[in-house]
Amino acid sequence: MSEPRKINIFGVTGSIGQSTADVILAHKERFDVQVVTAHSNVSKLAELARLMKATHAIIADKSKFDALKSELSGSGIQVGAGRSALLEHAEVPADISMMAIVGMAGLEPMMRAMNGSKAIAIANKEPLVAAGPIVIARAKECGVQLLPVDSEHNAIFQVFDQNNRAAISRLILTASGGPFWEWPKEKIELATRQEALAHPNWVMGAKISIDSATMMNKALEIIEAHYLFDMPADKIDVIIHPQSLVHSMVEYNDGSVLSQMGASDMRTPIANIISYPERLTTSGKRLNFKTISSLTFFDRDDVRFPAIPLAYESLNSGLYHSITMNAANEIAVEGFLNGKMGFGEIINCIRYALDSITKQNISTLDDVIMLDKHVRITTRNYIDTSLTNRTVSII
Ligand code: NAD
Ligand code: MG
Repeated sequence: MSEPRKINIFGVTGSIGQSTADVILAHKERFDVQVVTAHSNVSKLAELARLMKATHAIIADKSKFDALKSELSGSGIQVGAGRSALLEHAEVPADISMMAIVGMAGLEPMMRAMNGSKAIAIANKEPLVAAGPIVIARAKECGVQLLPVDSEHNAIFQVFDQNNRAAISRLILTASGGPFWEWPKEKIELATRQEALAHPNWVMGAKISIDSATMMNKALEIIEAHYLFDMPADKIDVIIHPQSLVHSMVEYNDGSVLSQMGASDMRTPIANIISYPERLTTSGKRLNFKTISSLTFFDRDDVRFPAIPLAYESLNSGLYHSITMNAANEIAVEGFLNGKMGFGEIINCIRYALDSITKQNISTLDDVIMLDKHVRITTRNYIDTSLTNRTVSII
């Protein structure tokens, strides 16, 4: 048997992080867990660090250092706290690092992980949306492989013939449509927090669940696919597939369409990536074709779900546009989750930010971080001054 694979997991306490831990714990002999990190959930981080026998556990919230230290006392696991500890430990050598932090908070850890890891498993899509060309260039420079965990991109990865890319005519991303696919526009705009969080097929973190309800998640995924597979915007399509069983497709010039199918269980793409190019046995759900009554596909609806066209607008406008869209979305989703504004206002916040920011050249990581910060301030001000008083959010 080959040597155990050294793995770091950033954001281990989240939905993707815990599914990664599940896969690893079912194959303990195959993995040697080094660094595990979380934002503030001390007890979960300590529990997972002990279970997986990690060498280091890092909590991003500095004030939780003593609590983590006492939870892990006697375990031999080294403990660290704060953003700088997170960034330093991102560089700990590993065969693969799983990036499962949510949002732009994961960008710098991802960049730093390229200094120590041979491969980067990307679940955390926002850094690619906001800094795609910079992430890709750095990966090439470091000779690091970028491996997609997002179910759609993982499906494409599994059927994308790298040796014959000129024969690929289209990538077709599938989208479940989220919880509101069958709702009229007026009802969607008044959706409650609870309704928006209730995804029909997947159990996920709060931010991506809201992104799935607005379908901003698919907009982010179009941009993610553009960078991961180096495909132009006009060769990336989206189709609604409410069952979430066909996880995306690649169409070739000869008319062949290759897809990867599977149950809606993130342990499948996670296992595929952390053991790549080998395959692990998972205990996840299996597809039973005898019980699938139908597989349906629909055209997207840009009137009820206006977020998707923004991705194409971004790819035609330049990086400043996708940084703005992504940052405004993070702030708007946070505002909605905190009860500051209604569901229908999320897209208005993003539009406001896009209208407020002037076109600019973005070429460095610092440019990305500066614009991202500026958009967050602009969007927060808009929410606090224009929305909070006039929108009643129903929670
Ligand atoms: P989650 O909210 O469940 O977990 C997020 C993790 O990031 C947690 O461990 C949290 O402690 C950590 N974190 C949050 N803020 C942080 C900060 N400021 N500093 C350091 N750590 C921080 O999210 P999730 O659903 O697991 O999603 C993670 C990423 O994977 C997202 O980018 C999401 O879009 C992507 N993704 C998720 C799924 C899914 O099924 N959940 C599928 C595809 C892609
Ligand atoms: Mg996805």
